[in-house]
Amino acid sequence: MAYTVTLIPGDGIGPEISEAAKRCIDATGVKINWEIEHAGVDIMEKAGTPLPDSVIASIKKNKVALKGPITTPIGTGFRSVNVAIRQILGLYACLRPAKSYVGVRSRYEKIDLVIVRENTEDLYAGIEFEHGKKETLGLIDYIEKSIHKKILPSSGISIKPISKEGTEKLVKFAFDYAVKHNRKKVTAVTKANIMKFTDGYFYAIAREVAKAYPKIEYEERLIDNMCMQLVQKPELYDVLALPNLYGDIISDLCAGLIGGLGIAPGANIGEGMAVFEAVHGSAPKYKGKNVVNPTAMILSGVLMLDYLGEKAAAQKLESAVAAVIAEGKDVTYDMKPHRDDPSAVGTSQMADAIIAKVKNA
Ligand code: NAD
Repeated sequence: MAYTVTLIPGDGIGPEISEAAKRCIDATGVKINWEIEHAGVDIMEKAGTPLPDSVIASIKKNKVALKGPITTPIGTGFRSVNVAIRQILGLYACLRPAKSYVGVRSRYEKIDLVIVRENTEDLYAGIEFEHGKKETLGLIDYIEKSIHKKILPSSGISIKPISKEGTEKLVKFAFDYAVKHNRKKVTAVTKANIMKFTDGYFYAIAREVAKAYPKIEYEERLIDNMCMQLVQKPELYDVLALPNLYGDIISDLCAGLIGGLGIAPGANIGEGMAVFEAVHGSAPKYKGKNVVNPTAMILSGVLMLDYLGEKAAAQKLESAVAAVIAEGKDVTYDMKPHRDDPSAVGTSQMADAIIAKVKNA
């Protein structure tokens, strides 16, 4: 069966790593018609927006997209295109596996964690009140009158919504993922001792959801303690379920545990719809140089194949990536012992080496 998948090359290093990932996925033999849709700073001038309606329409139609990173322009009034896509499509779960590969230089070995981050709520919802504005002063006044808490009038305010529906869906996703992928434990992570009505609520809902999964262990950790635990004893953890902001921070921490952003894949998943993308951003200074590591984007393609039910192809591609990294020959500069190692290959050459392994599998 042929799939139609929306391919959003993105901007910065996006187009080159997207092309590399597309070629690697095609090499598995899974038939995909790629529908190319442009978003980001490169299309902004022509389309008048960094996120043309056709991009969203294409994802809604095809239900699956592979997306390159997109720059968030500073000072133009545009919020993040990446956050907008997740919110418009209700892609409530952000899945970020953090797995060690032999050959990647890292302080840690055998890391195998899965981060499930809520994607649409929390401080990331973009509900903000600018300092000094009439609405902000009105809100400050309301808070003082209704719950007798004083906020300095010069303050800016960001709102942190955590809903029953959002948390239930997210935690259920984490448990379902654990069951499907033979995982043993889900750890919910918040700062519930301080934010009782949001993070405390997250725990309360998570505990209810956990009751339906007696075979999967459930536990809770406070975010500050979790940071220390992940650095000291990451092997104690398995699947982590977190509200949006903590999930964002822990994702980068875990990317650090496995050797950096260049190899950290991700997926944004909603009801019957998913957008796959690397954890890293558009690294604009490397744009068009054919030097950056395509691995995170290719492994996002592995997650996509797995989501499509193409398990054998997903496995074949992941094994090919692992083999090329383990050999350490046809890898980009960031995977060499020294950043200026002359034997480092380019983005597309690393993809070629992976494709050769896929074809010989
Ligand atoms: P970044 O991830 O783009 O880059 C940080 C550094 O990480 C780079 O300078 C580079 O040294 C390294 N790096 C990143 N990807 C790499 C790769 N594939 N291979 C080798 N090295 C790599 O983070 P940033 O500089 O904070 O963000 C740049 C832009 O990307 C910003 O506009 C930001 O908003 C955006 N961004 C987009 C996404 C997304 O599209 N989902 C995610 C994060 C950041």
